[in-house]
This record gives sequence, structure tokens and C-alpha cells, in this order.
Amino acid sequence: MTATTAAQAADIVAALLFIFSLAGLSQHRTSRAGVAYGIGGMALALVATVVVAARDVSTGAVLLIVLATAVGGSVGLWRAHKVEMTQMPELIAVLHSLVGLAAVLVGWNSYLEVEAHGAEQTRIASELLRIHHAEVFIGIFIGAVTFTGSIIAFLKLSARIKSRPLTLPGKNALNLGALAAFVALTVWFAVSPSLGLMIAVTVLALALGWHLVASIGGGDMPVVVSMLNSYSGWAAAAAGFLLDNNLLIVTGALVGSSGAYLSYVMCKAMNRSFISVIAGGFGIEAAPSGDAEQGEHRETSAEETAELLENATSVIITPGYGMAVAQAQHPVAELTAALRERGVTVRFGVHPVAGRLPGHMNVLLAEARVPYDVVLEMDEINDDFAGTTVVLVIGANDTVNPAAQEDPASPIAGMPVLRVWEAENVIVFKRSMSSGYAGVQNPLFFRENSRMLFGDAKQSVEGILRALSATDTGSAASRPGPRTSEQPSHA
Ligand code: NDP
Repeated sequence: MTATTAAQAADIVAALLFIFSLAGLSQHRTSRAGVAYGIGGMALALVATVVVAARDVSTGAVLLIVLATAVGGSVGLWRAHKVEMTQMPELIAVLHSLVGLAAVLVGWNSYLEVEAHGAEQTRIASELLRIHHAEVFIGIFIGAVTFTGSIIAFLKLSARIKSRPLTLPGKNALNLGALAAFVALTVWFAVSPSLGLMIAVTVLALALGWHLVASIGGGDMPVVVSMLNSYSGWAAAAAGFLLDNNLLIVTGALVGSSGAYLSYVMCKAMNRSFISVIAGGFGIEAAPSGDAEQGEHRETSAEETAELLENATSVIITPGYGMAVAQAQHPVAELTAALRERGVTVRFGVHPVAGRLPGHMNVLLAEARVPYDVVLEMDEINDDFAGTTVVLVIGANDTVNPAAQEDPASPIAGMPVLRVWEAENVIVFKRSMSSGYAGVQNPLFFRENSRMLFGDAKQSVEGILRALSATDTGSAASRPGPRTSEQPSHA
């Protein structure tokens, strides 16, 4: 078997491993196996690529490839070890930006190579040259949109810039105009390629990527992350065509289509138009700010909350991003156990986009060993708030915001939320009155039945646990002890 045939066989096996990986990652039970398949597929793909490259390039160049792989791999390992769970979406956004940048560089390299050596020497048939030019343009366009879009997503997710949507006048016309300009430039470039057109398409796509993601509000960022995931897949597939690398085409198409499907599913869950979100908030116009005067809020303490919980018959806990920041899941699990021991029914209501990753809250609650059967999805629990004594909103904000249902002008209008305000009492755990990720004020905090429990969520829950055990000790002390001869019986 020649090295080329072996490499082709390795490509097929690697592609299959990537498909197994996706299948494994779709379920909790099989997710570890899914990760292992992915690592195996990528290792095989890397070795096969280096073996094939080694035939055409000098030993020095092969050493450079190995060195670059070692440096990249070490940086990846270091980041993966260091990253906090709450920083995962930012890390994913950065990684997407690198895929985009790679596609842009591959496109430029391919153009410069044809310019320098002519089509014959670069093994491109002359009748396919126009198609090659179009591929270069498409690859650069998708890559550059992914690059700047992912950088803006990173800046928004890491709170380095505001998550509010940018609303330039005529933003829809700007996006449509950029797309029309891209089509016109592609035709022009296919007929008569030039450096000026290469620069023009790169600048146009960089600006479009920036504008598309900047125009999307904080509440829609989960969809943006999966959408950029999809774009990065198509960018990789485009690079695969230019590099004549079948594995890259297959892998890119897998990532591109699964990312697009995930975006579609998330849009449905959040009652958002798929087309509107992928087109940079197309059709969504600037809404008046929801920061109008809301009235007075009331505060409570850990002790008062403990008393309320002791006398409750049913409690629902709705966790959000703040629980992840405070790492409050372990005391929350303890509180759940303590209340259940007292005969209180405790359940969890998990919103599909609570936290900063799909499934974020489920992972934290599973880590703290909260029983699965008390963790319910939003649709399963939303009708039960009305008959609930106390809801504990632990570090959630946008996902429990009534404005989504009641204020058509709100940037999160139409997004399904947990209807916590229907309960008898709502206790909101947070550190201040600041808004949630979408940057929208929350009228829940000012409702008659709401109380704010200010402070770090972990410390607040620990305070409640202390108050509960103090009442245990107190009631044990006040319970009549064994009767002695000095204590007359009143029986
Ligand atoms: P939010 O991000 O809306 O709000 C979190 C709240 O937690 C804040 O108001 C903050 O208030 C509070 N908080 C932060 N740290 C602490 C702490 N240490 N102790 C107590 N409270 C704290 O949370 P939600 O989970 O309700 O909503 C998720 C938002 O993120 C949605 O807008 C969603 O669209 C978006 N998003 C979700 C993604 C996903 O895939 N799940 C991905 C990207 C974005 P304060 O500062 O006053 O304490």
C-alpha cells in the first residue's frame, strides 16, 4: 500500500470517527466515548496529513509542521485545563475565530500561489480556473465573516463590550447590500482576478461579520454561538476544496450542518426567527430602552428566607448564570436535601438557555448530585409555579423576566421564560439590582410577592443552611428532655 492510499484510508476512518463522535456527544451517557472518538479521529487526520505533506515538501518544512502542531497542541491543552466552566462559550468563540482566520489565509495563499506559479504548476486545469477563483472568494468571504463575527461574540460573551444590539440606521439594507456586493465581486473576480478585488472582498466580509454579530442582542447570543459554529464548519469545508483535502470537506460539512441544525432548534426553543437571527437580527428594529422607573424593591435576609422555606409545602429553585459564577450548586444541593428531609417538595426549573452554555445548569446540578427526577425542563414545570409556596431564583435574571411576555417593546419580547412570578413568594438571589445578560431591567424584582436576597449566591444559601440548622438545634433544645424526679409531670 502506498503512503497516499494509506492516507486516503486514514481519512475515511477519521471521517467515520467524527460521525461516531457527534453521535456519542448527543447523549450524557455516551458523551465521554464521543470525546474519545473525536480525539482519535483528529489524531489520525493529523498524522495522515503530515505523511502526505512529507512527500511534497522538504524535511525542514515537515519539522516546521510538527513544531507548529506541538505549539498549537500545548496552547490548547493549557487553555482547556485553565478555562472555567463559565468561560466555555468565550473559548468556543475564540476557537471559531481561528477557523475563520485559517480559511482566509488558505484563500489568500491559494490566490498568491496561482499568481506566482500559474495554473499549470499548481495542478489546476485551465478550464477549472474560474471555479477555483470563485472558491477562493467564497472561502475568504465565509472565513472573514466567521473571524470578525467570532471576535465580537467573544467580546460580548466575556463582557468586554456591551451585549446590547448595535442598531445602525438601515442595518438590514447594509447586510443585504454587502451580500449583493459579494455576489457581484465574485462574478467579477472569476472573470478577471486581481489583488484589488481580493482586498475588497476581505474588507467587505470582515465588516459584515462584525456588523452581523454586533447587531444581535445579548438574549440571542446562544444562537449566535451555534451559528458561528456552523459558519466555521463551512469555512473549513471551503478551505478543504482549495487544499484538495477531502477530510476537511467532510468534517467542515459535518460541523456546518450540525451547527445549523442546533441553531434552528435553539431558535425554536426561544421563539426566534431563524432567518432573522442568522441575518444579524433582520427585521428586528431598535426598541425603546426598558429601563423605565420600575418602583421599589423589598429586601430579605437568609434567616427570614429559612423561616419561609421551613413553613412551605412546595419549593421550586430556578438556577441561572449567577449560580455558576458563585459555584453555589453544592450548598444548593444541601439545601434541597435539608428541605426534603423536612417533608417540603423541592423541584428545579431549568430554562433551555440558563447560564452560558446549552445544558449548563444540568451539568452543575448533576455534579452536585441533585437527583435527576427533581430537575425539570421549563415546559414541564411552567404551569406549576402558580401552586408553589416559594420560588428561589438563584442567579437567574433574563430567563425569569416577565417583560419577555408582557412588554412587546422589550429586546427579549417573545422569548419563553419561567413564570416564577405566579408563585406565592419569590426570593431573588443576586448581588445588586443590575440587569442580566441581555441588558434588560427585570420587573420581577419590583413585584409585590418578590424579595431580594442580596449577596453572593453561595454565601446566601450557606446562610440559609446555617439558619435552618440553628432552628433545628433551637427546637431540639426547647423539646422536653427526659423527665427527672425533680421535674413534675404536667400530664
Ligand atoms: P443572566 O445572565 O440573565 O443573569 C445572571 C444574574 O446572576 C445576573 O443578574 C447577576 O446579577 C447574577 N449573579 C452573577 N454573579 C452572581 C453571584 N456570584 N451571586 C449571585 N448572583 C450573581 O442569567 P440567566 O441564566 O437567567 O440567563 C442567561 C442569559 O445568557 C440569557 O440572556 C441567554 O440568552 C444568555 N446566553 C446563554 C447561553 C446559553 O447557551 N445558555 C450562551 C450565551 C448567552 P448581579 O450582578 O447583580 O449579581
